[in-house]
Amino acid sequence: MNTKRKQIFAGNWKMYTTQREAVNLALGIAEGLQKTDREIVIFPPSVYVVCVKAACEGTPIKVGFQNMYFEKEGAFTGEIGPLMVKDTGASYVLIGHSERRHIFGETDEMIHKKVVAAIAHGITPMLCVGELLEEREAGKSESTVETQIVKAFEGLTAEDALKVVIAYEPVWAIGTGKVATPEIAQSMHAFIRKTLQTLYTDTVAETIPVLYGGSVKPDNIAGLYAMPDIDGVLVGGASLKVQSFLDIIRVAL
Ligand code: PEP
Repeated sequence: MNTKRKQIFAGNWKMYTTQREAVNLALGIAEGLQKTDREIVIFPPSVYVVCVKAACEGTPIKVGFQNMYFEKEGAFTGEIGPLMVKDTGASYVLIGHSERRHIFGETDEMIHKKVVAAIAHGITPMLCVGELLEEREAGKSESTVETQIVKAFEGLTAEDALKVVIAYEPVWAIGTGKVATPEIAQSMHAFIRKTLQTLYTDTVAETIPVLYGGSVKPDNIAGLYAMPDIDGVLVGGASLKVQSFLDIIRVAL
C-alpha cells in the first residue's frame, strides 16, 4: 500500500451467479460498505452488468466487464464491443485475464488491441498479467510478465499508459488456494514498476496502480496489502460472498 496511488479492490465474478444472485450480491456489498476512499469495482457476468449497475446506482461501486472485443462494431457474432460497454455505463474492463489467455487462447497482440480500444473509448482497462507455474519453476516469471507488459503497452503514450490499471495474477495462484507470499508478490510488483519505468518515466511507474490477484481471502489480505507496491487486489472466489468481499475491503478502511 502506498496511499499516494489509487487503491482498488475489485471482484471478478467469472461465470457465476444467476441474475437475482448478482443483484443481491451487489446490493449486499453496497449496504455493508462503510465510508471508503478506495475504489471498489465489481465485474459481473456481462449479461448482468446492466441490472448490477442499476443496483449500484447512488453507491460508490463501479461496474466493469470481464472482457471486451477490440473492434468498435461489426459482424463479430457473440462479442461485446467498446461502444456497448460504454453504453451500459460500465467504467472498467478486465483485459487479458489468465482464463482468457490460457483457456480461450488470447494472444498478447489481441490483448494490446483491447487495451488500446478501451482507452480510446474512455473505459479503464484492468490489464491482467502473470506467469504459469512452469514459467515460475523455470525462473521465467519476470521475463514472462515483462513481455506481457511490453506488448500490451506497445505504442501507448505516457498519457495513455497512465489510464491503465495492472493486476499481477500468477496463474498458479488463481482459484487454487495457493496465494503468493507477500514477498513474492512484492518482488513481482516492484519488477512491474521497474518495467514501466524503463518503458516510460519514474512518474508513470510510480502512478499506475498494480493490484495483486490469486486466492486472496480475508485471512491473507493483510500481509499482501502491507507491501509497498501492492495497491489493492483483484479477487475471484472470495468476491462471490458479501461477507468475505467486505472483510477483504475492510483491511483498507
Ligand atoms: C481472479 O479470477 O482473477 C482470481 C484472482 O481468482 P481467485 O481469487 O479465485 O484466485
